[in-house]
Amino acid sequence: MIKVPFADLAAQYRAIKREIDTAIADVIERCAFVGGAPVSGFEAAFAAFAGTAHCVGVGNGTDALRVALSALGIGPGDEVITVANSFIASSEAITMAGAQPVFVDCHPDTYTIDVDRLAADVTARTRAIIPVHLYGRPADMPAIMDVARQHGLKVIEDCAQAHGAHLDGRKVGTFGDAGCFSFYPGKNLGAYGDAGAIVTDDPDLAARMRKWANHGRLSKYDHEFEGINSRLDGLQAAVLSAKLPFLEGWTESRRRAARRYGEGLAGTGLALPGDPPNGRHVYHLYVVRLAERARVQQELAQAGISTGVHYPVALPNLTAYRSRGYRPADFPVAMDYQDTVLSLPMFPEITDQQVDWVCETLKGVLA
Ligand SMILES: *Cc1c(COP(=O)(O)O)cnc(C)c1O
Repeated sequence: MIKVPFADLAAQYRAIKREIDTAIADVIERCAFVGGAPVSGFEAAFAAFAGTAHCVGVGNGTDALRVALSALGIGPGDEVITVANSFIASSEAITMAGAQPVFVDCHPDTYTIDVDRLAADVTARTRAIIPVHLYGRPADMPAIMDVARQHGLKVIEDCAQAHGAHLDGRKVGTFGDAGCFSFYPGKNLGAYGDAGAIVTDDPDLAARMRKWANHGRLSKYDHEFEGINSRLDGLQAAVLSAKLPFLEGWTESRRRAARRYGEGLAGTGLALPGDPPNGRHVYHLYVVRLAERARVQQELAQAGISTGVHYPVALPNLTAYRSRGYRPADFPVAMDYQDTVLSLPMFPEITDQQVDWVCETLKGVLA
């Protein structure tokens, strides 16, 4: 038996302990806790990484979405379309902005929003689309942008699981009006607490988002409007700056593990994740689908293998939305996948031996 955790944040810290510890001590010595050089330094570095002119650091990925929506003028009376299978933040941010989430089913092969179903849900009140690059696979942005242009909609990309993913030579977050990132510790680029950022090429939007995330502030004690308090803190910015140079290597390690899963699980009949045509999946999660998921998870656990489910309840089925009257029949794919998706262990430090053990054990369980 080989122990395979679902992820291993401690292993990553051990590998870069010196860089992290130095960065943290430096912020504390400078007392640059909110704003200041650590934050502006990270914002510049992340904008360069993302390939955008601007980056606005915020408190977390959920606020990133909410701030982008509000700064784009979306609020009460408006509808915003997102995908039926995601983390609640994708729709919660829409409600936080005062608008109404409208769910579109996911494509059966890609887990991302089904563009063929998208236009049918556009109404006179629709103002924006939030596509989610779920599990690290870019959504079909060229097709989504076509629909958005036809109907005059804003596009806010939920890039929380897709740092560094790209399509047609462009990184995710650069197709729409704004790209929203989470740096929750378990994400591909993770802080040591909550953190998030929004990238955009639009200088006016960047300025409005910065105000929104900082009490609508114009200057000290002068406020243009009531915003929220959701700033990126200095310690998290310093941790993120220390980690950013390693991200590309970590992504390649995830992709190497994904290729090995692909080889090891070939011939099982399982639908395996892969790159989109002309694009790059960054494997925040490596997700397969199976019947009898509970039994499989239990048998894997007995062999020392930890797995996850993302997500066990499709968004329209959440208790939080029970009163909204969403109809399960409108989301047949998401309804099926909530009962069948299984996330296998995936993290940059996973060894070949660990991946092989997962493949071997899973094949045995399925046989
Ligand atoms: C993590 C996540 C978010 C929210 O990020 P937080 O930093 O946890 O607020 C939003 N969307 C998706 C798809 C996520 O996975």
